[in-house]
Amino acid sequence: MTIRLYDTSARQIRDFTPLTPGRVSIYLCGATVQAAPHIGHIRSGLNFDIMRRWFAYRGYDVTFVRNVTDIDDKIIAKGKDQNRPWWSIGYDNERAFNAGYDALGCLPPTYEPRATGHVPEMIEMMRGLIERGHAYEADGSVYFDVRSFPGYLELSNQDLDDLRQPDEGVSGKRDPRDFAMWKATKPGEPDWETPWGRGRPGWHLECSAMAHKYLGSAFDIHGGGLDLIFPHHENEIAQAKAFGDEFAHYWVHNAWVTMSGEKMSKSLGNSVLVSEMVKNWRPIVLRYYLGTPHYRSMIEYSEESLREAEAAFGRIEGFVQRATEKAGRTVPAAAEVPPAFAEAMDDDLGVPHALAIIHTTVRQGNSALGADDKDEAIARLAEVRAMLGVLGLDPLDPQWADGSGGGEELHGVVDTLVRLVLQQREAARERKDWGTADAIRDQLTQSGLVIEDSPDGPRWTLANR
Ligand SMILES: [Zn+2]
Repeated sequence: MTIRLYDTSARQIRDFTPLTPGRVSIYLCGATVQAAPHIGHIRSGLNFDIMRRWFAYRGYDVTFVRNVTDIDDKIIAKGKDQNRPWWSIGYDNERAFNAGYDALGCLPPTYEPRATGHVPEMIEMMRGLIERGHAYEADGSVYFDVRSFPGYLELSNQDLDDLRQPDEGVSGKRDPRDFAMWKATKPGEPDWETPWGRGRPGWHLECSAMAHKYLGSAFDIHGGGLDLIFPHHENEIAQAKAFGDEFAHYWVHNAWVTMSGEKMSKSLGNSVLVSEMVKNWRPIVLRYYLGTPHYRSMIEYSEESLREAEAAFGRIEGFVQRATEKAGRTVPAAAEVPPAFAEAMDDDLGVPHALAIIHTTVRQGNSALGADDKDEAIARLAEVRAMLGVLGLDPLDPQWADGSGGGEELHGVVDTLVRLVLQQREAARERKDWGTADAIRDQLTQSGLVIEDSPDGPRWTLANR
């Protein structure tokens, strides 16, 4: 039962060996809070939420740090455009991101540090790098000297001779491929005092500094989207290792959500914002849609594929509901997931394969229900709940309940009330009062319930919004 992960840096799947037995430390590059998140932004957080849940299931004590990049060119530009403080723009979007993570059931990180809260740590790192000859100051900016660090570009497997560093619109570099860790102040921009004059952080430095502060000079896993491999992660590695840190032992990258083959982008407008999507789709269905393809596979977004996911999840959810009714009580999740499910998850978080085990177990459970084999149905239900729990997709988990009440308790109360109303409808039918019977049914429908007649009596479900 060793967890194996695809390590971008080794370009192969490796057995996971923790730095400290029983513990895993994960640093995930989080949001640059320029705008409210669309579903493509949330996918990374969701993939790594499933990763940490699996480590926790395997008995690891998980430390999970996901940063917030709360200062960059676009945040500052938006502040100017909207005549608002730049930091209020970042904070609004940070809250929208957290609302998105919460809506899709991502557990909060152990800690969520912001870039602007760590300027002293960045200064300390720059001072160390300048002392060791890996960085230099020019016109108030501080640059990393890429030729001074032999391991540069190993993660992305590029050759320094072929490299063109993205143009940062700044001068004073000794080599055009050097990157800015710190940018000299410009009129009207926020700045901080440093030994090299006033200025503000470049993007890459914050992650090296914050990973060092919260996870130490060596930690287990560094994660992020594929697009971060270069330049961001290369630059993080250069800064941290040249500073003297071992830095991350494994590099894990998630694929994107695409539209027509292209990475989903802000230019698509509001339609794919998480805040809009949750109005049209149940959050648990969105989680199923974004969380169940393999984290290294692209998700080509379409409404049709989302509808398919909804139907597939509906089959699982329907079984959980029918089997719970058959049991006449809430059946707790099994203490352990089936071995085949665990094997799939150990194998580079093979969620698609693990999901197939869930669907197979659901089919077995449905057969048991069909054969009126209550014990067998209950056993399958306990397994299904255990597996869904690992993926954060158990529909009976209180987090998916609407409102503030506990999911299972609220379900029980509603169930009692609905049954009471249905008894009234039955009584009306018996006295051939069809008008009243129909009116009761219509009112239940209007309240968002779907009533079906089954051999065990009428059954209710929530209509999909
Ligand atoms: Zn980062």
